[in-house]
Amino acid sequence: MWATAMTAMRATARDRPNTLGAGVAVKRIQENMDNNNNLMIPAALVDKLVAAQHITVLTGAGVSAESGVPTFRDAQTGLWAQYSPTELASPEAFARNPQLVWNWYEMRRRLVEQVEPNAGHRALVELAAIAPQFTLITQNVDGLHQRAGSVNVIELHGGLFRYRCYECDMPVTAQEWQTGAIPPKCPTCGGNVRPDIIWFGESLPERNLALAFQASRVCDVFLSIGTSGVVAPASSLPYEALSNHATVVEINPKETELTYDATFVLRGPAGQILPALVAKMKQR
Ligand SMILES: [Zn+2]
Repeated sequence: MWATAMTAMRATARDRPNTLGAGVAVKRIQENMDNNNNLMIPAALVDKLVAAQHITVLTGAGVSAESGVPTFRDAQTGLWAQYSPTELASPEAFARNPQLVWNWYEMRRRLVEQVEPNAGHRALVELAAIAPQFTLITQNVDGLHQRAGSVNVIELHGGLFRYRCYECDMPVTAQEWQTGAIPPKCPTCGGNVRPDIIWFGESLPERNLALAFQASRVCDVFLSIGTSGVVAPASSLPYEALSNHATVVEINPKETELTYDATFVLRGPAGQILPALVAKMKQR
């Protein structure tokens, strides 16, 4: 797997017009491999992690994909293939056909219930216990970090297993609604209950976003894990950390926008790299 990632990286680098930048990134990544293409964690990175007062982590879809959570597009199979994302994940879609949207989220919840948190999720729980201060920010809605044992997770895009009223915005739990109606009805106002997910056209939760930016500004080390780095505003969080002189680490099997700016790049799945990082920290 490492060899494959390396080959892909070299090919991409060769194709890039900016050969200087590409060369630097390839060199950095090669330094993370020994002669047998095994991952080596740079000692300088372990030093930074061990000395850090505050470690901030941002996770994206890649971390969930390693557990087998289908991506948005992957989940649109069979009967659902005929619908575009905006026909299923927007306030307009819910207003037009609340039953359709509710059923789609039911399907997605069932898919998530069938998978388990992976070694990457679990390593972040360990990292939180080691670091004096630790902030976990996620773009994922599947709740796998919480199932692994992470607490105080800052969810930027909401949560699949939380609900609120479409009319009065009150949070609603599954215990509070009467079974039968699809979607369920709000016990306060009788309005339709919706998933507490950030849909297309909706803004991110202001408080969570402010907490995420703050944690990115004050951290010593920022880990960007399994995120493509193209979806704003989460994509600007590592740059907040960089501009405040934090060590920024990219952990991803693929090259991203951040690759050329990160202090360290660890190329590979989080489920392999994060446990290795934590083990190195514990050896100190
Ligand atoms: Zn209500």
